[in-house]
Amino acid sequence: MHKIAVVGTGYVGLVGGAGLADFGNRVVCVDRIEEKIEQLRRGEIPFYEPGLSDVVKRNVREGRLSFTTDLGKAVAENDVVFCAVGTPEGEGGQVDLSQVDVVAREIGTHMTGYRVIVQKSTVPVGTARRLRRIIEETRGEAAEFDVVSNPEFLREGSAVEDFMRPDRVVVGADSERAMEIMRGIYAPLYINRTPIVETTPESAELIKYASNAFLATKISFINEVANICENVGADVQVVSYAMGLDKRIGPKFLHAGAGYGGSCFPKDTKALVHIARDAGAEARIVDAAVAVNREQKERMVAKVVSACGGDVSGRTVGLLGLAFKPNTDDMRYAASIVLAEGLRKLGATIRAFDPVAVDNARELMPFIDYVEDAYEVAEDADALVIVTEWNEFRQLDLDRLKKTMRSPVVIDCRNVYDPEDFESHGFSYTGVGRGKR
Ligand code: NAD
Repeated sequence: MHKIAVVGTGYVGLVGGAGLADFGNRVVCVDRIEEKIEQLRRGEIPFYEPGLSDVVKRNVREGRLSFTTDLGKAVAENDVVFCAVGTPEGEGGQVDLSQVDVVAREIGTHMTGYRVIVQKSTVPVGTARRLRRIIEETRGEAAEFDVVSNPEFLREGSAVEDFMRPDRVVVGADSERAMEIMRGIYAPLYINRTPIVETTPESAELIKYASNAFLATKISFINEVANICENVGADVQVVSYAMGLDKRIGPKFLHAGAGYGGSCFPKDTKALVHIARDAGAEARIVDAAVAVNREQKERMVAKVVSACGGDVSGRTVGLLGLAFKPNTDDMRYAASIVLAEGLRKLGATIRAFDPVAVDNARELMPFIDYVEDAYEVAEDADALVIVTEWNEFRQLDLDRLKKTMRSPVVIDCRNVYDPEDFESHGFSYTGVGRGKR
């Protein structure tokens, strides 16, 4: 059993903290936002993540998990400090490390004996060394500690399962003492034979960016193929299905759509381009994936305009789904933002529904008229756009939709439907990369 402080109770910190407690460790989760900590103490989860509430409640009940805003005390009382604060995109696409730096200075001020500092946030190569320097400078005297890089690979929407049963765990450490402590913390995963990659901090840091950039590139690749399909009269659904059957390619992340969003891919791809440049190398493929993704989101606006006969001014466009993907309320870099803002600029009125992301969306896009379900979105609408592929949008009652819409126009940005489904009900259907069949 290790005594662990996890700093930052976002998607990564809270899932990780609860997961580490479930592994048998004693964990205190720290956040600077008092309201979040109050909510957690009341047993409420501050964001939507399936299955998380049960794990949190179970570990609180069994005395292994608690919450605080007092970072100094958490550092003083625990042997291992996980840092899971935000590392958002800074100016020009570089990573903004200000939250990480604050935590490093607090650690330097409050640590009382040997500490393992575990960097879980996604941070540029060299950050482990940077943390060491900040902690030493703040301390002003010799202190015993190790900095470990332990990037997180969980996906929002299945974060608990991903943390508990990961494909691999990556631990980058320069000291055997710290590595041995990390082995102890992840002991249940060793028993499950989860591959644990033990490496240097630099390699661990790069593994995270390289993995995300690869997945993002795969998405941009198939989106580019989709655009080619539209011009040559091919169907990207068939093309990607057949490609994915090749085991060297695989079917995952090979689904054409509105472009990737979320808290990771957009910022991590741009960050890798910077990391490469700063190191005198290049990341041309990733750079292209970023550009293709930006254009793909803008293409969705053009698709809606074209489906509406070239003009959306004065029209009502309904959006089904707002979150960057299903099963999350995360709106960071969601395709819906580019779409809604683009259509609004062209004079459209936007109405929308999302099963869980409306509160977050409202803060970003107060101009949208938010309603309670898909059929209300469709009422008197001139076009309906499937933006996020929530399960509940997969089996819509098309007759009911048609009756309520002003014109039966559907733009399916996620290729959820077979065009035939809508066309046989008298709709005009536009998907992504679906040329003539
Ligand atoms: P988040 O923004 O949801 O949460 C960060 C939390 O840290 C916030 O609650 C914030 O209040 C808190 N915080 C910031 N500074 C603090 C301080 N000084 N003291 C205490 N708390 C502080 O972020 P997230 O989505 O959980 O991501 C965290 C990191 O993990 C990022 O680097 C991200 O790139 C990486 N990551 C995220 C995901 C994901 O799916 N969200 C997956 C893998 C890796």
